[in-house]
Amino acid sequence: MSAESHCLISGGAGLIGRALALELSSRGRRVTVLDDLSGHSSFPKLPDGVECVRADVRDGAALEAHCRRLRPDTLFHLAAIVGVRRVLRDPAEAYESSLAGARACLSAQRAMGGRMRIVFASSSEVYAEQPGRLDEQAPVRTQTGGRWAYAAAKLACERLVLAADPDSRVLRFFNVVGPGQSAEAGMVLPRFVERARAGLDLELYGSGAARRTYAHVDEVARVLGDLEQHPHWKTPILNVGGSARASARELAECVLRLSASRAGLRQVDPRQELGGSFEEVGSREPALARLAELGIELPSRSLEAIVGDMLERHPHKEHMPCASRA
Ligand code: NAD
Repeated sequence: MSAESHCLISGGAGLIGRALALELSSRGRRVTVLDDLSGHSSFPKLPDGVECVRADVRDGAALEAHCRRLRPDTLFHLAAIVGVRRVLRDPAEAYESSLAGARACLSAQRAMGGRMRIVFASSSEVYAEQPGRLDEQAPVRTQTGGRWAYAAAKLACERLVLAADPDSRVLRFFNVVGPGQSAEAGMVLPRFVERARAGLDLELYGSGAARRTYAHVDEVARVLGDLEQHPHWKTPILNVGGSARASARELAECVLRLSASRAGLRQVDPRQELGGSFEEVGSREPALARLAELGIELPSRSLEAIVGDMLERHPHKEHMPCASRA
């Protein structure tokens, strides 16, 4: 692909989409972001030359028309209903919405005569719980109800996209975080940061023992930028994640320490907030050997660096983009 290649990013007003738009345009790519603004109230400030299109990715006719006009080489399909809280509000809708989005992307791809590659944003939620690092061949979940509707939909979309075109690619993201991430959807780090700033106790689900691996969104965007033009990116499914491992309690303690907040920690029962069927995942850590084999520099920011940047750059509550579906 040439330096003039054109990337269309669905969900481009979101956390990963806007960082990716910045990254690709700084590399000289033509970039268009498409978003229905259901998760963010406005398009982010992006460099001159980046076009913003307000549209629902599930609207196949509109997507096809935009693709015919723009002729993108790659469609990064990131648009989705994200966050356990939003998914649990209506799991069937989250599932159907995900599939409708993927189907519309495939139909636009067909209309382009297959000239547009789809890079689909999947999730580490697809993996069944098991000890140790999760590589791309690890067993996947079979449940479909409640919070698992999100994982089931991601798996179904992965299969759809890869069955339609062997050049399409799937990325399974592990806890990508950064400034501007929506707390309303239930994302843990912005929730902790906003509560610490307000002097409100940080709420841990149970004892806060659940462990995750965090990656800063700017490093993830750099990885995606490297992948976009990588001549040897042949593996259909790739994990993308960081190396900053922490339990929810350790993350909360880090936020309190670095913010010098007088807030404390409080244990809550997630089932009271998220419903009786809520299930927590004990631990999730990516194996990143496939990504490393491509010679790509892995995200390496420490937990302190990630939290420090969040405290510095995450918008203050009154300026936070509101979530119209929240
Ligand atoms: P985000 O919520 O910040 O961004 C998603 C964007 O999609 C929002 O701007 C929203 O307005 C838009 N959107 C939703 N439905 C749409 C529709 N029908 N049409 C057009 N736009 C629509 O989420 P994110 O963290 O940037 O995640 C991007 C992708 O990566 C998602 O597919 C998500 O499932 C996946 N992912 C993210 C993480 C993470 O840790 N951030 C982890 C695993 C997977």
